[in-house]
Amino acid sequence: MASDSAEPDKEQGQASKVHSTIIKEADHPIRPRDIDREALKVLYRLRDAGFSGYLVGGGVRDLYLGKQPKDFDISTNARPGQLRKLFRNSRTIGRRFRLVQVFFRGNKIIEVSTLRSRSEYDINDTEVLPSNNTFGTLEEDAFRRDLTINSLFYEIENNTIIDYVGGVADLNNGVVRIVGDPEIRITRDPVRMLRAVRHAARTGFSIEEETWNAIVAHREELNLCPPSRIRDEFLKDLISGHSRAWAEHCIQSRIFFTLFPFYEKLLLDEEGARQLYALLDVVDRLHTHPENKRLRLPEYMLFAAILFPWIEKKYNLLNREVKGGGYHRLLMDIRTALEDVVCSRFNVKRAAKEAVTTLYVNMPSLQQHRKKGWPKWLQKKSYFNDCLRFFALVEEARGGADVSTHLFSADNNRSEVELKVRNGGGGRGRKGGGNPAFTTDKGGVFGLGHTSP
Ligand code: ATP
Ligand code: MG
Repeated sequence: MASDSAEPDKEQGQASKVHSTIIKEADHPIRPRDIDREALKVLYRLRDAGFSGYLVGGGVRDLYLGKQPKDFDISTNARPGQLRKLFRNSRTIGRRFRLVQVFFRGNKIIEVSTLRSRSEYDINDTEVLPSNNTFGTLEEDAFRRDLTINSLFYEIENNTIIDYVGGVADLNNGVVRIVGDPEIRITRDPVRMLRAVRHAARTGFSIEEETWNAIVAHREELNLCPPSRIRDEFLKDLISGHSRAWAEHCIQSRIFFTLFPFYEKLLLDEEGARQLYALLDVVDRLHTHPENKRLRLPEYMLFAAILFPWIEKKYNLLNREVKGGGYHRLLMDIRTALEDVVCSRFNVKRAAKEAVTTLYVNMPSLQQHRKKGWPKWLQKKSYFNDCLRFFALVEEARGGADVSTHLFSADNNRSEVELKVRNGGGGRGRKGGGNPAFTTDKGGVFGLGHTSP
């Protein structure tokens, strides 16, 4: 314990002397066999060439918590040029901070970064750094990271964890805490607020008080970030399987209303929040379904789900009859509403906006026909399957039967969509009873008994 000391960057808001804590193999749960084979190969190759290499970030965090990491990132004191020589099958990416991707069989990529003194977001725009000035020591690299639980290093020589920031204690105590002074770190990169909320949602940890207060105070600064970066960040949360917990944290901290200001009034009303959570519960259930681990709802479907309570309140899609020119008028209205709140706000491509509009504008029609069966003209529409999927998702959120994950498989064709919807009734028995449209009776859900394939 505590053999090391350093002089970290004061801008990161740290005290001038920092000690690292070394956690011995016997005192932590990570074992080499838990580490991805290719990541280990990279670590051994670095060691054999005389460099130090560490497993870092989410890989260490997740292994410590007994979870399967999404990816295994590695940091080293080798420079990008040295890495390129050491790993022939590799390439360099990134402009300001160069990162080396090492390729393995089966499209496997391990990312290796040189230890850095600062995060790119902690550098002022006016500051011009000579390229060799961005590299740093292990402790500097720990302090440039976002959360304490993401700032741990695991090394393969003695299988120890090296902790400069109290990350292990935070993992043990279930705490999400920004590294350094949260006010400064958040102001430098407001996306760190989203990262704090993300990891609290995924782990079930609580957010430490100073970090929480800084999030609440600085939430509007998210508006300073490029819209596409914010969009990509929250889309990750929507597919994480923890989108409901994410939304709860965002609503409580009011980040949600910075992202979606038009929701402010609606979610004050308990019913609005309940609808949103019910939709996100379905989204989470689909993303964590054991039978289809790779299921990912497309981006536009995620947008359609999170915006649905707002659009439903505005256009009453499930309780309106749309006839003749009414369809076109509704389409134009929805398109305009989405343009304002989605496209300009989150830089969403036009095709995605059109796809969301299509899902919404066809809801009145699906709602109207669901008991008697889908008319042939509707079934022939190219968008029918997609609208049916979204309709089924909304219906589950409203108390209907569980929507089948097969509906969302990329390879299903229309007859399978019909079949799965028909057989999809029953769910877990807790729902459905109060909603005749989702009975498991012979007629099938959505009245598809009339349109057997
Ligand atoms: P996961 O990959 O499971 O979503 P992760 O923590 O590994 O979680 P990545 O986006 O892969 O997330 O980032 C890898 C690491 O880079 C993080 O663990 C963190 O240490 C660091 N990091 C990422 N974004 C930032 C940021 N904005 N500021 C500082 N450090 C960051
Ligand atoms: Mg990661």
